[in-house]
Amino acid sequence: MAGAVAVAAAAALAPANMLASRALKAKEKKSATPLNLCFQEGIATGATLEEKLDYMESLGITGLEVSGRGLAGRVDEIKSALKGRNIRMAAICAGFGGFILAEDEQKDKFDRTMREIVEAAGKIGSCGVIMVPAFNWQSPCRPHTMDTRNYLCEQLHELGEFAVQCGTTVILEPLNRKECFYMRLVSDAAAIARDADSKGVKVMGDFWHMQEETSDYAAFMSAGTEYLQHVHIASRGRRKMPGEDGEKDNYRDGFRALKELGYQGFVSFECGCAGDRATVLPAAVELLRKQWEEA
Ligand code: MG
Repeated sequence: MAGAVAVAAAAALAPANMLASRALKAKEKKSATPLNLCFQEGIATGATLEEKLDYMESLGITGLEVSGRGLAGRVDEIKSALKGRNIRMAAICAGFGGFILAEDEQKDKFDRTMREIVEAAGKIGSCGVIMVPAFNWQSPCRPHTMDTRNYLCEQLHELGEFAVQCGTTVILEPLNRKECFYMRLVSDAAAIARDADSKGVKVMGDFWHMQEETSDYAAFMSAGTEYLQHVHIASRGRRKMPGEDGEKDNYRDGFRALKELGYQGFVSFECGCAGDRATVLPAAVELLRKQWEEA
């Protein structure tokens, strides 16, 4: 009888043990996730790329993001500048001509220039080329209909497959309603990426635009590790350096999601600077590291 009670007690305890071990694993994953910080090329102080990279290394920045404009002609320059450094190529920020939803020759221009950038991005080991299908102000643009959404997914599928062949991806960037009303939430972009059905179509989140989200945590979780490829960061009042807008610059909720996901990509500075760059930049880096710890 005592044995039977012991067996029953053990069975009742088993789920609790399983839950505890699952929680422990999640905690370990969270604490092991590194904060990989990245600067866009214009962020660092320094007159040349070499000087900027030296400065970035002094702050422990491990990623570089550059514009796609003229990238094909910069492959050797960037490769040799990164050689021997603890800085990797991160995302490529747009830089193409035309747009994918154009109704006129701007579509051909997009196809040609975007593919050129994607090829170069693959050569320098970039995780992807950031793009927006159409800004609100771009015209002539395909109408906002179901057919256009289907067309977008087909076109993205082709582009994504091309990117995979080049060893990289294309990354959809959700903006805000003033710039891109149909793709303003990370989940909007993630759903389009899923429907594009290509391993080469990914998404990102930009903490600046993400002020339209109801939850930073839920936004990143909606993309998950399958789609989330890059993150942009700025202060949340004026789009300056993180920390320059005081209390508004709280990234903990989003950071908590990135840590729980075990996100291995970069958090990249895309912002202006209100104060003196030489003092504001190190302070911003310190603030983000502190909030990452607290998240
Ligand atoms: Mg951005």
